[in-house]
Amino acid sequence: MFDTTHFPKAKTYWHMGKFYDWSSAHLHPMSHALHYGSSVFEGIRAYPTPRGPAIFRLKEHIDRFLHSAAAAKMKVPYPRREIVSIIKQTLLKNRLQSAYIRPLLFFAYGNLGLVPKHCPVEMLVATWEWGAYLGEKSANGVCVCLVPWRRVHYSQLDMRAKLGGIYVQSTICGLEARQRGCDEAVFMNIEGNIAEGPGENIFIYRNGVLKTNDKTESILEGITRTSILEIARDNGIKTKVGPIKKEEFFRADEAFFTGTAVEVVAITRILDSSNPKAKDKKYTLGNGKPGPVTGRLRDIFMAVVRGKVKKYDKWLTYVRG
Ligand code: PMP
Repeated sequence: MFDTTHFPKAKTYWHMGKFYDWSSAHLHPMSHALHYGSSVFEGIRAYPTPRGPAIFRLKEHIDRFLHSAAAAKMKVPYPRREIVSIIKQTLLKNRLQSAYIRPLLFFAYGNLGLVPKHCPVEMLVATWEWGAYLGEKSANGVCVCLVPWRRVHYSQLDMRAKLGGIYVQSTICGLEARQRGCDEAVFMNIEGNIAEGPGENIFIYRNGVLKTNDKTESILEGITRTSILEIARDNGIKTKVGPIKKEEFFRADEAFFTGTAVEVVAITRILDSSNPKAKDKKYTLGNGKPGPVTGRLRDIFMAVVRGKVKKYDKWLTYVRG
């Protein structure tokens, strides 16, 4: 019934203490999270290394998972070390070298109504092989659409948490961008600055400085973002953290997305649809191809996650210990 066309190599998933065949399902349709988005999740990747599969920055992902659960007022049914062990077991059971890992906590079946008084918090972990998030062609750079909807503001909800329901904004705007012929959306924040993509952070490179924004600009400070900042500094690239004005983005020499799913992908074209009352405007960054700084950072990042740069071995958790 549930095929794996879009979940390559997925064999089994874990739910509340048991592994289930990927094609089987047993959740009730009246589960709270299905109706109200009352879930929190993580997106983690594992890569093949000379010492077998390794999970990239697992500690930071689990820290964020637990932070998200607290933000959602969820009591987590498993301690940290058990969550780590379940993730490793799920990778091993699926015999995956290269994987996307999705842990989820959600208010399950109990009662309906916004307050999940009688709904237990349940956890699941799924994993499969997920290639290029924005498609194979994204290696040549992507076109983004600056959408009219502003990113949920950090004063409205804890935007450092990965709250399922918040992602409905990402889904709607991601669809909107694709309807307008682009590969992905970009949000401005309430202040009118560039915020982030639906599931990605943004960097720009301009006049010899690499710049990204932070949580005060209503973004999720991604783990890939933090890693890229450290890698850039270690490699002598000048960095700055601060608000990104719309015009800075349009006039950047280079720009790129970062994220666990997307990894590092160049933004080469922008469609400014941010003002519904004005005509859309198009911009090309640099010569319309991924720039040298983006390429260099991407190459180093991909070497780091594959265990090829000793200095960053501290970021890897080897699945087989
Ligand atoms: N922003 C949002 C809204 C995201 O969902 C993600 C993906 N987790 C990111 C940024 C990038 O974060 P990370 O590098 O930790 O995956």
